[in-house]
Amino acid sequence: MTSPQEAAVAALRGADHVVVTTGAGMSRESGIPTFRDTLTGFWANYSAADYATEAAFRRDPARVFGWYAWRRRLALAAVPHAGYHALLALEGLVGRLDVVTQNVDGLHRRVGSQRVIELHGSLDRFSCLDARHPADAAQVPMPEVDGPYAPPPCRVCGSPLRPDVVWFGEMLPERATADAWDLAAACDVMLVVGTSGLVHPAAQLPHIARDAGATVIEINPDETELTPIAHVVLPGRAAEVLPSLVDSLQRATGNGQRGGEEGRG
Ligand code: NAD
Repeated sequence: MTSPQEAAVAALRGADHVVVTTGAGMSRESGIPTFRDTLTGFWANYSAADYATEAAFRRDPARVFGWYAWRRRLALAAVPHAGYHALLALEGLVGRLDVVTQNVDGLHRRVGSQRVIELHGSLDRFSCLDARHPADAAQVPMPEVDGPYAPPPCRVCGSPLRPDVVWFGEMLPERATADAWDLAAACDVMLVVGTSGLVHPAAQLPHIARDAGATVIEINPDETELTPIAHVVLPGRAAEVLPSLVDSLQRATGNGQRGGEEGRG
């Protein structure tokens, strides 16, 4: 009988175009907590929904900005784990690989992945609350201690700076979303890593891929909303399952690196 790992390797061997969609679980083993993990320490008394909305920011900008400063500090200190490196290696084994992430920590870019769409923005970018004038991150110093932290004013209009992330209730960036939807509809295989499938519209991507005929492979230690639509489920943690999968693929293909792009732009 074929094991799930063998089925995943077979799907990847035949794939010209792979899309990897990642959520907060992808970064957990790099020390970045998911929303659904208990918020810890200074922030323990609130839920993510108390921070990740425009209403929360307008009510208490210093508390929300301080929470994001803490998350940015965690992200900058984090080291991408072996699963990130495995995805980088996978780029060399398939015709084309795109990463579509809900994460705002920048780890896919930092490890060197070539095609990354950050659907929910990035902790490394800032813009002002009222006019969304972009601001230089260097203008936003990082406090040494956890706690409330007043956002600096926009140099153009004086409105407080906010992190350039998508808050609950906000629209996703138009271009990134259109591109992600097109990629999902065009890929042969979609790897779904570390997402609960509860946050929409990102959770629709595996459905779009499956409806268009792609093989959907889920990597997650727990069952999720997306487990029922996955063709292959590899239960486990991203930092273990991804390196093992890519290692098996490398062995199955005789370590063969592809000779560059094969006719896809
Ligand atoms: P989520 O918190 O809803 O779910 C996390 C998922 O990861 C769960 O299904 C869990 O079982 C799984 N998981 C936990 N540990 C894992 C591991 N080691 N390997 C693989 N999977 C693991 O996360 P979500 O679906 O991404 O949605 C939450 C929202 O929170 C997203 O919009 C995202 O932008 C945001 N968020 C981002 C970060 C980040 O940038 N790192 C961190 C927290 C939250």
